[in-house]
Amino acid sequence: MKFPYEALDVSDKSFFTPYSPPAEALQKAAEIILLSIGENVKREGLERTPKRFAKAYAEICSGYQYTAQDAVGEGVFQGEGGLVSVRDIDFFSLCEHHMLPFWGKISVAYLPQDKILGLSKIPRLTEVFSKRLQVQERLTKDIATGINEVIAPRAVAVRIVGSHMCMMMRGVKKSGSETVTEFSVGLDKISQQETDRLWKSIE
Ligand SMILES: [Zn+2]
Repeated sequence: MKFPYEALDVSDKSFFTPYSPPAEALQKAAEIILLSIGENVKREGLERTPKRFAKAYAEICSGYQYTAQDAVGEGVFQGEGGLVSVRDIDFFSLCEHHMLPFWGKISVAYLPQDKILGLSKIPRLTEVFSKRLQVQERLTKDIATGINEVIAPRAVAVRIVGSHMCMMMRGVKKSGSETVTEFSVGLDKISQQETDRLWKSIE
């Protein structure tokens, strides 16, 4: 089969260099995908698709530019006190194996040491890690360790319930299944009773 990408010289790596805007590289990538699946990139409905794709991906994958610290900014306050939990934060991410969406709910609980997070900062912090190519297990760990980094709580627990498009529309086609992942930091420093309360609060 003849390589069909006349529009693109793939030996020309210039569009991967820092000198060309990433939007352009993403547009070219979208064109390659369209051509590869046998589409006509010139037909009316697809004319602006590479542009839209580039814009969408720039947003969906914007997490790479930020750290947990960037997400919380000034939103760290002195304060002890009891258990803090934020449940069912919506997230959307892309699985790194298929680049297909996975999405669901993130729940976070922590026992403060001497710092607490502004409540709106927790969803923002989750986005730093969900807006990247991910696997759900690592996303769970990234969020827990990210919170540990910015406020060093006594303990933090994260639980994610996710649905994966790559399982639903291809492969095993298990459309009703959900994946649950958990990660915690610092449970060895708290009592069993506190551990139970931490997990119970985000069940
Ligand atoms: Zn996948």
